[in-house]
Amino acid sequence: MIHYNNSYNPDSEGFYGQFGGAFIPEMLFSNINNLKNQYLEIIKDESFQKEFDNLLKDYVGRPTPLYFAKRLSEEIGAKIYFKREDLCHTGAHKVNNTIGQILLAQRLGKTRIIAETGAGQHGVATATVCALMGIQCIVYMGEIDIARQAPNVQRMKMLGAEVRPAKSGSKTLKDATNEAIRDWINNPIDTHYIIGSVVGPHPYPDMVAKFQSVISEEMKWQLKEKEGRENPDYIVACVGGGSNAAGAFYHYLDEPEVKLVLVEAAGEGIYSGKSAATSILGSRGVIHGSMTMLMQDPYGQIIEPHSISAGLDYPGIGPLHAHLIDSKRAQVFAATDDQAIEAAFHITQMEGIIPALETAHALAVLDQMEVNKDSVVIVNMSGRGDKDLNTYIAVQDSDKTENIPSSGI
Ligand SMILES: *Cc1c(COP(=O)(O)O)cnc(C)c1O
Repeated sequence: MIHYNNSYNPDSEGFYGQFGGAFIPEMLFSNINNLKNQYLEIIKDESFQKEFDNLLKDYVGRPTPLYFAKRLSEEIGAKIYFKREDLCHTGAHKVNNTIGQILLAQRLGKTRIIAETGAGQHGVATATVCALMGIQCIVYMGEIDIARQAPNVQRMKMLGAEVRPAKSGSKTLKDATNEAIRDWINNPIDTHYIIGSVVGPHPYPDMVAKFQSVISEEMKWQLKEKEGRENPDYIVACVGGGSNAAGAFYHYLDEPEVKLVLVEAAGEGIYSGKSAATSILGSRGVIHGSMTMLMQDPYGQIIEPHSISAGLDYPGIGPLHAHLIDSKRAQVFAATDDQAIEAAFHITQMEGIIPALETAHALAVLDQMEVNKDSVVIVNMSGRGDKDLNTYIAVQDSDKTENIPSSGI
């Protein structure tokens, strides 16, 4: 039986302090209400949990290892562990959530799945579970992203999904989200919308956090085995919407001695005008159905974010994280594009693990933690770097990495 009790659960309307809720058009009300009334009962049901656990084990490959990074630990002067979500099937933590949501959709009697995707990682994770269950899958993706992320588009198609281009606006993630919402309004009976992070209207942030919470559930017994204690001193995770961080933090939220560190993408510099440091630059407002922190101009229009990593290139953060930051339960650090690239090359050569560009942001701030040799730091390795190889190759070819191995982390 999984325990989901903690003092950071949202209230019945989906609020974490002053953030969260469901700010939705009237035409989505019945879909969201239906989900809100049923999700807790379904995911706490024993047969659901059994099927979820079995798939996480045999299909995703859980538990993922908690790996002691020996050489890096010596360099930093603390005990550094990696929680290896990069070893999950499809290459990142995202599949934990899509497995949970496809099982939920089946129990709601849904026969058609829609999703939005930016870089294609969530689209691939969704197309994967739809193939697994033999369910129709439609993925909305901005026209520009389709051109930029061709290999993931091909993966989704091979998995049997239909990829529909979003041709309006900036032709990227937020436009794909708008198209998916429009589809859901038109197909309320047979369709479930799988959102890919702890964002969107209630109950999505809570539901996705609960599906991802398996990450910290495993960390507790794994760290106990290795260090004789369940609690690390720090947990460090990158934040786009916030699902890998939510999963890594979940079972530690009520352990105040565990410091929770979120790392945002500072792009070309926090104040460069090309950044995705949402909580630092943002203010309170509504995005994609949720009251949270987002980057907006004085008229409430969204400011386009920038990050070298597609997974962090989002103008908002989930409402749980906005609350954790607001209440000072979590601290925020930022890493620039260059710092992330440098960390990615350094970690690859120190540990033989090529991290996703998103994860590289979390790795880039490790030397800023206040630690001693007995401190235990867990970094959530949200994904692997195969998808980012073209970016890494371009940097390598431009010779920018010549001084990287000697330059510290
Ligand atoms: C999508 C993605 C992220 C960012 O999403 P979160 O919801 O913030 O976790 C981070 N890392 C990887 C590898 C991703 O694919």
